[in-house]
Amino acid sequence: MAPDAKQTVFWRVDKNCPDPEVIRQAGHILRRGGLVAFPTETVYGLGANALDGRAVESIFTAKGRPRDNPLIVHIADTGMVYRYTRSVPERALLLMRRFWPGPLTLVLPGNGRIPREVSAGLDSLAFRMPDHPVALALIREAGVPLAAPSANLSGRPSPTTARHVYSDLNGRIDAILDGGPAGMGVESTVLDVTGDVPVVLRPGGVTPDQIRETAGAVVLDGSLSLAGPPPRRPRSPGMKYRHYAPAAPLVLVEGDGVRVVEEIKRLAADYARRGKKVGVLCRAGNRDKYAGVLAVPAGGACDHASVAAVLYDALRRFEGTGVDVILAEGVQPEGLGLAVANRLRRAAGRIIKVD
Ligand code: AMP
Ligand code: MG
Repeated sequence: MAPDAKQTVFWRVDKNCPDPEVIRQAGHILRRGGLVAFPTETVYGLGANALDGRAVESIFTAKGRPRDNPLIVHIADTGMVYRYTRSVPERALLLMRRFWPGPLTLVLPGNGRIPREVSAGLDSLAFRMPDHPVALALIREAGVPLAAPSANLSGRPSPTTARHVYSDLNGRIDAILDGGPAGMGVESTVLDVTGDVPVVLRPGGVTPDQIRETAGAVVLDGSLSLAGPPPRRPRSPGMKYRHYAPAAPLVLVEGDGVRVVEEIKRLAADYARRGKKVGVLCRAGNRDKYAGVLAVPAGGACDHASVAAVLYDALRRFEGTGVDVILAEGVQPEGLGLAVANRLRRAAGRIIKVD
Protein backbone atom coordinates (compact mmCIF):
# COMPACT_ATOMS: atom_id res chain seq x y z
CA MET A 1 0.00 0.00 0.00
CA ALA A 2 1.27 3.52 -0.78
CA PRO A 3 2.47 5.18 2.42
CA ASP A 4 -0.09 7.97 2.08
CA ALA A 5 -3.17 5.82 1.60
CA LYS A 6 -4.12 5.63 5.28
CA GLN A 7 -6.95 7.29 7.17
CA THR A 8 -5.19 8.97 10.10
CA VAL A 9 -7.26 9.25 13.30
CA PHE A 10 -6.50 12.32 15.44
CA TRP A 11 -7.26 12.03 19.18
CA ARG A 12 -6.84 14.83 21.73
CA VAL A 13 -5.82 13.47 25.11
CA ASP A 14 -5.33 15.04 28.51
CA LYS A 15 -1.60 14.85 29.26
CA ASN A 16 -1.99 13.84 32.90
CA CYS A 17 -5.18 11.84 32.63
CA PRO A 18 -5.51 10.32 29.13
CA ASP A 19 -8.93 8.83 28.29
CA PRO A 20 -8.51 5.05 28.86
CA GLU A 21 -10.78 4.28 25.90
CA VAL A 22 -8.54 6.25 23.51
CA ILE A 23 -5.43 4.55 24.92
CA ARG A 24 -7.18 1.17 24.54
CA GLN A 25 -7.91 1.83 20.86
CA ALA A 26 -4.40 3.13 20.20
CA GLY A 27 -2.91 0.07 21.93
CA HIS A 28 -5.11 -2.14 19.74
CA ILE A 29 -3.79 -0.42 16.58
CA LEU A 30 -0.21 -1.05 17.74
CA ARG A 31 -0.85 -4.71 18.57
CA ARG A 32 -2.25 -5.36 15.11
CA GLY A 33 0.84 -3.81 13.45
CA GLY A 34 -0.21 -0.17 12.98
CA LEU A 35 1.61 3.12 13.59
CA VAL A 36 0.65 5.58 16.34
CA ALA A 37 2.29 8.97 16.97
CA PHE A 38 2.42 9.96 20.64
CA PRO A 39 3.76 12.78 22.81
CA THR A 40 6.87 12.38 24.94
CA GLU A 41 8.77 14.82 27.15
CA THR A 42 11.35 15.36 24.34
CA VAL A 43 9.56 15.38 20.94
CA TYR A 44 6.64 13.42 19.42
CA GLY A 45 7.45 9.77 18.64
CA LEU A 46 6.09 7.45 15.94
CA GLY A 47 5.53 4.06 17.57
CA ALA A 48 5.23 0.51 16.25
CA ASN A 49 5.33 -2.84 18.04
CA ALA A 50 9.09 -3.44 18.35
CA LEU A 51 8.53 -7.22 18.23
CA ASP A 52 6.81 -7.06 14.83
CA GLY A 53 9.40 -6.67 12.05
CA ARG A 54 6.79 -5.73 9.44
CA ALA A 55 5.28 -3.04 11.63
CA VAL A 56 8.77 -1.63 12.30
CA GLU A 57 9.53 -1.74 8.58
CA SER A 58 6.47 0.43 7.92
CA ILE A 59 7.92 3.20 10.16
CA PHE A 60 10.81 3.57 7.71
CA THR A 61 8.39 3.73 4.78
CA ALA A 62 6.07 6.27 6.45
CA LYS A 63 8.97 8.58 7.36
CA GLY A 64 11.13 7.98 4.30
CA ARG A 65 13.86 7.10 6.83
CA PRO A 66 17.08 5.43 5.63
CA ARG A 67 16.93 1.70 6.52
CA ASP A 68 20.37 1.77 8.18
CA ASN A 69 19.37 4.33 10.84
CA PRO A 70 18.19 2.28 13.85
CA LEU A 71 15.27 3.09 16.16
CA ILE A 72 15.02 3.60 19.91
CA VAL A 73 13.03 0.98 21.84
CA HIS A 74 10.60 2.72 24.21
CA ILE A 75 9.72 0.84 27.37
CA ALA A 76 7.55 1.36 30.43
CA ASP A 77 9.42 -0.84 32.93
CA THR A 78 13.08 -1.83 33.28
CA GLY A 79 12.11 -5.53 33.10
CA MET A 80 11.71 -4.98 29.35
CA VAL A 81 15.42 -4.05 29.12
CA TYR A 82 16.52 -7.30 30.76
CA ARG A 83 14.24 -9.33 28.48
CA TYR A 84 15.94 -8.08 25.30
CA THR A 85 19.61 -7.55 26.28
CA ARG A 86 22.58 -9.86 26.81
CA SER A 87 23.82 -7.99 29.86
CA VAL A 88 23.21 -4.76 31.72
CA PRO A 89 26.40 -3.22 33.19
CA GLU A 90 26.20 -1.86 36.74
CA ARG A 91 26.85 1.64 35.38
CA ALA A 92 23.81 1.38 33.11
CA LEU A 93 21.67 0.33 36.06
CA LEU A 94 22.77 3.39 38.06
CA LEU A 95 21.94 5.62 35.09
CA MET A 96 18.49 4.04 34.68
CA ARG A 97 17.78 4.56 38.39
CA ARG A 98 18.70 8.21 38.25
CA PHE A 99 17.40 9.29 34.84
CA TRP A 100 14.45 7.01 33.97
CA PRO A 101 11.83 7.87 33.15
CA GLY A 102 13.58 10.70 31.27
CA PRO A 103 15.47 11.90 28.19
CA LEU A 104 18.36 9.41 28.33
CA THR A 105 18.66 6.60 25.75
CA LEU A 106 21.04 3.77 26.66
CA VAL A 107 22.73 1.66 23.97
CA LEU A 108 23.17 -1.89 25.30
CA PRO A 109 24.10 -5.28 23.80
CA GLY A 110 20.99 -6.93 22.35
CA ASN A 111 20.15 -10.64 22.75
CA GLY A 112 18.63 -11.16 19.29
CA ARG A 113 15.00 -11.26 20.42
CA ILE A 114 14.12 -7.88 18.93
CA PRO A 115 13.78 -8.07 15.13
CA ARG A 116 16.79 -6.73 13.21
CA GLU A 117 14.67 -4.02 11.51
CA VAL A 118 14.79 -2.10 14.84
CA SER A 119 18.58 -2.04 15.19
CA ALA A 120 19.28 -1.92 11.44
CA GLY A 121 21.28 -5.12 11.84
CA LEU A 122 23.52 -3.85 14.71
CA ASP A 123 24.20 -6.12 17.71
CA SER A 124 23.31 -3.29 20.06
CA LEU A 125 19.89 -1.86 20.96
CA ALA A 126 18.93 1.60 22.18
CA PHE A 127 16.41 1.82 25.09
CA ARG A 128 14.55 4.70 26.68
CA MET A 129 11.74 5.12 29.21
CA PRO A 130 9.88 8.34 28.31
CA ASP A 131 8.76 10.65 31.11
CA HIS A 132 5.28 11.29 29.80
CA PRO A 133 2.01 9.86 31.18
CA VAL A 134 0.51 9.37 27.69
CA ALA A 135 3.58 7.57 26.32
CA LEU A 136 3.82 5.32 29.38
CA ALA A 137 0.08 4.52 29.32
CA LEU A 138 0.31 3.64 25.62
CA ILE A 139 3.32 1.30 26.04
CA ARG A 140 1.63 -0.43 29.00
CA GLU A 141 -1.62 -0.83 27.08
CA ALA A 142 0.18 -2.19 23.99
CA GLY A 143 1.94 -4.65 26.32
CA VAL A 144 5.04 -4.62 24.10
CA PRO A 145 8.08 -2.35 23.70
CA LEU A 146 7.57 0.34 21.05
CA ALA A 147 10.17 1.10 18.41
CA ALA A 148 9.81 4.85 17.94
CA PRO A 149 11.80 7.47 16.06
CA SER A 150 10.70 11.10 16.00
CA ALA A 151 7.33 11.47 14.21
CA ASN A 152 8.50 13.66 11.31
CA LEU A 153 9.31 13.05 7.66
CA SER A 154 12.97 12.08 7.55
CA GLY A 155 15.32 15.05 7.37
CA ARG A 156 12.73 17.58 8.60
CA PRO A 157 12.80 19.26 12.02
CA SER A 158 11.47 16.93 14.73
CA PRO A 159 7.85 17.50 15.75
CA THR A 160 7.17 19.21 19.06
CA THR A 161 3.41 19.48 18.56
CA ALA A 162 0.74 17.13 17.17
CA ARG A 163 0.14 19.71 14.43
CA HIS A 164 3.75 19.22 13.22
CA VAL A 165 3.12 15.45 13.11
CA TYR A 166 -0.13 15.96 11.21
CA SER A 167 1.49 18.18 8.59
CA ASP A 168 4.28 15.63 7.94
CA LEU A 169 2.50 12.29 8.33
CA ASN A 170 -1.26 12.69 7.81
CA GLY A 171 -2.38 9.84 5.53
CA ARG A 172 0.80 7.85 6.21
CA ILE A 173 0.12 6.60 9.75
CA ASP A 174 -2.88 5.21 11.64
CA ALA A 175 -3.29 7.61 14.55
CA ILE A 176 -1.97 10.70 16.30
CA LEU A 177 -2.39 11.26 20.05
CA ASP A 178 -2.35 15.00 20.72
CA GLY A 179 -1.17 15.56 24.29
CA GLY A 180 -0.12 19.19 23.85
CA PRO A 181 3.38 20.51 23.16
CA ALA A 182 6.31 18.21 23.98
CA GLY A 183 8.15 19.69 26.97
CA MET A 184 11.90 19.80 26.24
CA GLY A 185 11.82 20.24 22.49
CA VAL A 186 15.04 18.36 21.67
CA GLU A 187 15.56 14.62 21.47
CA SER A 188 17.04 12.39 24.16
CA THR A 189 20.74 12.02 24.89
CA VAL A 190 21.97 8.79 23.24
CA LEU A 191 24.63 7.17 25.44
CA ASP A 192 26.60 4.06 24.47
CA VAL A 193 27.23 2.05 27.64
CA THR A 194 28.59 -1.09 25.96
CA GLY A 195 32.26 -0.12 26.54
CA ASP A 196 34.43 0.79 29.54
CA VAL A 197 33.60 4.49 29.43
CA PRO A 198 30.12 5.75 28.43
CA VAL A 199 30.13 7.64 25.12
CA VAL A 200 27.62 10.37 24.24
CA LEU A 201 26.57 9.63 20.65
CA ARG A 202 23.94 12.38 20.54
CA PRO A 203 23.68 15.20 23.09
CA GLY A 204 20.19 15.76 24.48
CA GLY A 205 18.13 16.49 27.57
CA VAL A 206 20.55 14.84 30.04
CA THR A 207 23.90 16.66 30.05
CA PRO A 208 27.41 15.09 30.13
CA ASP A 209 27.95 16.63 33.60
CA GLN A 210 24.84 14.90 34.93
CA ILE A 211 26.01 11.59 33.43
CA ARG A 212 29.48 12.02 34.93
CA GLU A 213 28.02 12.53 38.41
CA THR A 214 26.40 9.10 38.21
CA ALA A 215 28.69 7.08 35.94
CA GLY A 216 32.04 8.52 37.06
CA ALA A 217 33.23 9.29 33.54
CA VAL A 218 31.83 10.12 30.14
CA VAL A 219 33.28 11.13 26.77
CA LEU A 220 31.75 12.79 23.73
CA ASP A 221 31.91 10.89 20.46
CA GLY A 222 34.50 12.41 18.10
CA SER A 223 31.83 13.41 15.59
CA LEU A 224 30.42 15.94 18.08
CA SER A 225 33.46 18.17 17.96
CA LEU A 226 33.48 20.94 15.39
CA ALA A 227 37.10 20.26 14.52
CA GLY A 228 37.57 17.98 11.53
CA PRO A 229 35.13 16.15 9.30
CA PRO A 230 32.65 13.60 10.73
CA PRO A 231 34.04 10.06 11.02
CA ARG A 232 33.53 7.68 8.08
CA ARG A 233 31.98 5.06 10.32
CA PRO A 234 29.77 6.86 12.83
CA ARG A 235 29.01 4.92 16.00
CA SER A 236 25.45 6.15 15.96
CA PRO A 237 24.25 5.55 12.41
CA GLY A 238 21.95 8.59 12.53
CA MET A 239 24.98 10.87 12.74
CA LYS A 240 25.83 10.60 9.09
CA TYR A 241 22.50 11.98 7.90
CA ARG A 242 21.64 15.64 7.57
CA HIS A 243 18.87 16.38 10.03
CA TYR A 244 16.44 19.01 11.16
CA ALA A 245 16.57 20.69 7.75
CA PRO A 246 14.49 23.86 7.59
CA ALA A 247 12.75 25.26 4.49
CA ALA A 248 15.72 27.32 3.27
CA PRO A 249 19.51 26.91 3.60
CA LEU A 250 20.63 27.84 7.10
CA VAL A 251 23.80 29.79 7.86
CA LEU A 252 24.83 29.46 11.50
CA VAL A 253 26.90 32.23 13.10
CA GLU A 254 28.68 31.22 16.32
CA GLY A 255 30.75 33.26 18.76
CA ASP A 256 30.54 36.27 21.04
CA GLY A 257 26.97 37.60 21.27
CA VAL A 258 27.60 41.17 20.10
CA ARG A 259 29.79 40.10 17.17
CA VAL A 260 27.27 37.45 16.11
CA VAL A 261 24.58 40.14 15.77
CA GLU A 262 26.97 42.38 13.79
CA GLU A 263 27.92 39.55 11.43
CA ILE A 264 24.29 38.55 10.84
CA LYS A 265 23.37 42.18 10.05
CA ARG A 266 26.28 42.36 7.62
CA LEU A 267 25.29 39.08 5.93
CA ALA A 268 21.61 40.12 5.81
CA ALA A 269 22.48 43.40 4.07
CA ASP A 270 24.68 41.47 1.65
CA TYR A 271 21.93 38.97 0.77
CA ALA A 272 19.34 41.76 0.47
CA ARG A 273 21.58 43.61 -1.97
CA ARG A 274 21.58 40.47 -4.11
CA GLY A 275 17.78 40.39 -4.04
CA LYS A 276 17.47 37.52 -1.53
CA LYS A 277 14.75 37.39 1.11
CA VAL A 278 16.39 36.86 4.53
CA GLY A 279 15.05 35.19 7.68
CA VAL A 280 16.84 35.45 11.02
CA LEU A 281 16.56 32.98 13.92
CA CYS A 282 17.52 34.88 17.05
CA ARG A 283 17.24 35.22 20.82
CA ALA A 284 13.97 36.94 21.74
CA GLY A 285 15.85 39.97 23.10
CA ASN A 286 17.66 40.51 19.79
CA ARG A 287 14.60 40.62 17.57
CA ASP A 288 14.47 44.41 17.29
CA LYS A 289 18.11 44.53 16.18
CA TYR A 290 17.23 43.04 12.80
CA ALA A 291 15.16 45.69 11.03
CA GLY A 292 13.65 44.87 7.65
CA VAL A 293 14.06 41.08 7.81
CA LEU A 294 11.79 38.29 9.05
CA ALA A 295 13.19 37.71 12.56
CA VAL A 296 11.78 34.66 14.39
CA PRO A 297 12.56 34.70 18.12
CA ALA A 298 13.66 31.44 19.75
CA GLY A 299 14.14 31.63 23.51
CA GLY A 300 16.28 33.72 25.81
CA ALA A 301 20.04 34.35 25.64
CA CYS A 302 20.96 32.81 28.99
CA ASP A 303 18.31 30.11 29.06
CA HIS A 304 19.11 27.09 26.88
CA ALA A 305 15.92 25.29 27.94
CA SER A 306 13.80 28.11 26.50
CA VAL A 307 15.66 27.85 23.17
CA ALA A 308 15.34 24.04 23.07
CA ALA A 309 11.59 24.22 23.72
CA VAL A 310 10.84 26.34 20.63
CA LEU A 311 13.75 25.64 18.26
CA TYR A 312 12.05 23.15 15.91
CA ASP A 313 8.82 25.12 15.83
CA ALA A 314 10.82 28.25 14.96
CA LEU A 315 12.57 26.40 12.09
CA ARG A 316 9.18 25.27 10.77
CA ARG A 317 7.81 28.83 10.99
CA PHE A 318 10.04 29.88 8.10
CA GLU A 319 8.13 27.50 5.82
CA GLY A 320 5.82 29.25 3.39
CA THR A 321 7.42 32.63 4.11
CA GLY A 322 9.46 32.58 0.90
CA VAL A 323 12.79 33.25 2.63
CA ASP A 324 15.82 32.30 0.51
CA VAL A 325 18.20 31.94 3.44
CA ILE A 326 17.98 31.67 7.24
CA LEU A 327 20.71 33.30 9.33
CA ALA A 328 20.83 31.78 12.82
CA GLU A 329 22.47 32.98 16.02
CA GLY A 330 24.54 30.19 17.59
CA VAL A 331 24.25 29.11 21.24
CA GLN A 332 27.04 28.31 23.71
CA PRO A 333 27.56 24.52 23.73
CA GLU A 334 27.28 24.22 27.54
CA GLY A 335 24.78 22.17 29.51
CA LEU A 336 21.58 21.75 27.51
CA GLY A 337 23.14 24.23 25.05
CA LEU A 338 25.31 21.35 23.77
CA ALA A 339 22.18 19.63 22.39
CA VAL A 340 20.81 22.86 20.90
CA ALA A 341 24.17 23.75 19.29
CA ASN A 342 24.39 20.20 17.88
CA ARG A 343 20.93 20.46 16.26
CA LEU A 344 21.70 23.90 14.82
CA ARG A 345 25.03 22.66 13.41
CA ARG A 346 23.32 19.69 11.81
CA ALA A 347 20.63 21.89 10.29
CA ALA A 348 23.24 24.29 8.94
CA GLY A 349 24.66 24.23 5.42
CA ARG A 350 27.42 26.62 6.52
CA ILE A 351 28.91 27.61 9.89
CA ILE A 352 30.68 30.93 10.45
CA LYS A 353 32.80 31.57 13.58
CA VAL A 354 33.24 35.18 14.63
CA ASP A 355 35.76 34.93 17.45
P1 AMP B 1 15.44 9.30 16.34
O1 AMP B 1 14.70 8.02 16.40
O2 AMP B 1 15.11 10.08 15.13
O3 AMP B 1 15.37 10.08 17.62
O4 AMP B 1 16.96 8.84 16.23
C1 AMP B 1 17.43 7.82 17.09
C2 AMP B 1 18.92 7.96 17.20
O5 AMP B 1 19.44 6.88 17.99
C3 AMP B 1 19.61 7.90 15.85
O6 AMP B 1 20.65 8.85 15.83
C4 AMP B 1 20.16 6.47 15.83
O7 AMP B 1 21.27 6.34 14.98
C5 AMP B 1 20.48 6.25 17.29
N1 AMP B 1 20.52 4.81 17.63
C6 AMP B 1 19.47 3.97 17.71
N2 AMP B 1 19.88 2.72 17.99
C7 AMP B 1 21.24 2.76 18.10
C8 AMP B 1 22.24 1.79 18.36
N3 AMP B 1 21.95 0.51 18.57
N4 AMP B 1 23.53 2.20 18.40
C9 AMP B 1 23.85 3.49 18.20
N5 AMP B 1 22.94 4.46 17.93
C10 AMP B 1 21.64 4.10 17.87
MG1 MG C 1 14.56 11.90 14.35
